[in-house]
Amino acid sequence: MKTQDYIRLEDQYGAHNYHPLDVVIERGEGIWLYDVEGKKYLDFLAAYSAVNQGHCHPKIAEAAKEQIAQLTLTSRAFRNKQLPLLYKDLYDISGMDISLPMNSGAEAVETAIKVARKWGYNKKKIPADRAEIIVCENNFHGRTTTVVSFSTEEDYRKGFGPFTPGFKIIPFGDADALEQAITPNTAAFLVEPIQGEAGIIIPPDGFLSKAYELCKKNNVLFILDEIQSGLGRAGKMFAYQYEDVQPDAVIIGKALSGGFYPVSAVLSKKEVLGVFNPGEHGSTFGGNPLGCAIARAALKVLLDEKLAGNSAELGTYFLNRLKELQSPKIKEVRGRGLWIGLELTEKARPYCEKLKDEGMLCKETHDTVIRFAPPLIIKKDELDWAFERIRRVIQ
Ligand SMILES: *Cc1c(COP(=O)(O)O)cnc(C)c1O
Repeated sequence: MKTQDYIRLEDQYGAHNYHPLDVVIERGEGIWLYDVEGKKYLDFLAAYSAVNQGHCHPKIAEAAKEQIAQLTLTSRAFRNKQLPLLYKDLYDISGMDISLPMNSGAEAVETAIKVARKWGYNKKKIPADRAEIIVCENNFHGRTTTVVSFSTEEDYRKGFGPFTPGFKIIPFGDADALEQAITPNTAAFLVEPIQGEAGIIIPPDGFLSKAYELCKKNNVLFILDEIQSGLGRAGKMFAYQYEDVQPDAVIIGKALSGGFYPVSAVLSKKEVLGVFNPGEHGSTFGGNPLGCAIARAALKVLLDEKLAGNSAELGTYFLNRLKELQSPKIKEVRGRGLWIGLELTEKARPYCEKLKDEGMLCKETHDTVIRFAPPLIIKKDELDWAFERIRRVIQ
């Protein structure tokens, strides 16, 4: 079968909730993807940062194969020997006391929302059903009914009401607005340290520290969604580490799987996740031995190959090169680590199509922004190769 045959099947029998580029991938290795016609592409999206370690990393594949041959699922009705080891690894990378594994990112966000509310009632003594969670405009925290309840994206919400109450929205990066929004019933402030889906939006310096201080002062949980920004993408293990803050909870996902198998987690101080009792939250697949073995290998690759450092170093290099580009079509180039948004003065999609023809896979976000987020194992000469193509297409 050829590209068009696969696309026809997909269009006929699948729901149309995505608008993918018309390339059908059959194989991936490191930073490279190969389509069904044998054409090779540099992956500049890395599955929205789920494959920071590169495609089909041999060490993660080995761990997965080994675990698949032994045990894949027990449910949490019984214990398995991989889960405690993952808990310890998560503690080691974050210093957060305890954690709770889930599968998709959105599920981990839901978990954080539930735990924040429970903490609000049990510890902060908020009156029943009155807990509020403050979030930011242009946030992206996933697609479940509750999570889209506090989205500000028309497409994410239209037709999906009624929505879950209990959320307040402030402008991203505005500490004064946060201060105004906090009430005695505020349980948590949930925020992305850098907004990825919104187009790689970096808040003003000092915003996170100010927000953290306000949360501390008002006994409000400071919860960071690092599902996309974390695990090396922004040039540090966690993007919040650019400022002096100590989050009460951090949500991770995406690269925790190395792209192999969905694994997410909420990491928190003991008194936060500590409010859960047996039976109050769970997931059949959350914490399964296969997912845990994969996550442990994925974290080990991040550390052994110093991918956060590579992201920081090459991210700065690449951002500076992109800033040299002279074109009236470029509105702004911004980023942190190998996580860069090129904002155009016109629609980005046609440029993504042209880059595809040049052998580079990128995706537009928010109409006018092209996100550059290659696997973090990329090397300098490969970035130079990509830069030449970007220059050709933009100029
Ligand atoms: C991708 C993402 C999510 C949702 O993760 P899924 O695995 O798609 O459910 C939540 N928050 C942020 C910041 C993300 O980038």
